[in-house]
Amino acid sequence: MSVSSTIPLADLQREYAAIRAEIDQAVERVLRRGWFILGEEGEAFEAEWAAYCGVAHAVGVGNGTDALYLALRAAGIGPGDEVIVPALTATFTALAVSLAGAVPVFADVDPDTCTLAPDALEAAITPRTAAVIPVHLYGCPADMAAITAIARRHQLLVLEDAAQAHGARHHGARVGSLGDVAAFSFYPSKNLGAYGDAGAIVTDDAALAEKARMLRHGGQRRTYYHELLGINSRLDEIQAAILRAKLSHLDAWNEQRQRWAAHYQAGLDEIEGLVLPHAPEGVEHVYHLYTVRTRLRDTLRDYLTGAGVRTGIHYPQAVHLQPAYAPLGYQPGSCPHAEAISSETLSLPMFPQLTLLEIEQVIRLIRFFFAMREG
Ligand SMILES: *Cc1c(COP(=O)(O)O)cnc(C)c1O
Repeated sequence: MSVSSTIPLADLQREYAAIRAEIDQAVERVLRRGWFILGEEGEAFEAEWAAYCGVAHAVGVGNGTDALYLALRAAGIGPGDEVIVPALTATFTALAVSLAGAVPVFADVDPDTCTLAPDALEAAITPRTAAVIPVHLYGCPADMAAITAIARRHQLLVLEDAAQAHGARHHGARVGSLGDVAAFSFYPSKNLGAYGDAGAIVTDDAALAEKARMLRHGGQRRTYYHELLGINSRLDEIQAAILRAKLSHLDAWNEQRQRWAAHYQAGLDEIEGLVLPHAPEGVEHVYHLYTVRTRLRDTLRDYLTGAGVRTGIHYPQAVHLQPAYAPLGYQPGSCPHAEAISSETLSLPMFPQLTLLEIEQVIRLIRFFFAMREG
């Protein structure tokens, strides 16, 4: 491959090319069966996904936002409750809280890991706090030992937002098994992605799983008898079949992401003014995104774009400062680490099917960019 062509941030065409026969077979199996909603593919995927995460139950739903929303509803959290959410995440984390009728309370993140800071969590707790949603941002598990200890002391539900961390481990245990309940997104570009929208709730709590199962399907236990005010958010059979095929590749793909991260680390380590991501002790990072930090973020980004390297910003605006949350009255400066990260973070190309040539080209360009500035 020519190094002068564009290097994408992520590339699902390459992924499909690598596993085309398996995907085509999975989709055809569903089409030939002629059963599309709540059937054997969904049930098989739920069992396989629960086993993979090391929990007893998985409930397939329409997307990750619904997984968060339905987990809160199933746990009985709603109007009158506060739910603590990190100020740096996909805003959908907070939107699920609002959708459930509860109020998101934003807490700052740790500047090293970019995940919820335990001391900020503790400071945000009030008598109304019912739950906390640690987010395993960029693929790095949050500090779950500290977070669950605080939550236990204050009797808070711990709902993991594991949308960016499929397969990541925290002291040996997979994300999804670290709190009371967890939500996954299988948005196409996630480490495990469908070819459309999909999500899942996982938990060891049989009653919570059963309630989520009813809520995703109109609140029915038996067809046409609606016991709860549910919604329609089901994982369809085609997406479930695709996810089953892709699940068999997840560990190898995560290992490849980790190898590319090690290449970036080796190539970019000694550049002054550039901060690289790192996994804390005991944590296995799965690099959904490879995010670096620099004060020169915008100029570096323009330079890379000009050189054919696509990058991303996750996220350009902290959640507490989003216009949709203006009514909550947060001011700039209330979550300073999240705000600083949002102005300095840059996501470099990261996906399993990248080539060594491409990684080396990105490293070369970044080294040149900083060398020019020193000179
Ligand atoms: C992707 C994502 C979501 C939302 O998932 P959808 O499937 O797009 O609804 C929620 N939280 C985080 C951290 C995400 O990355």
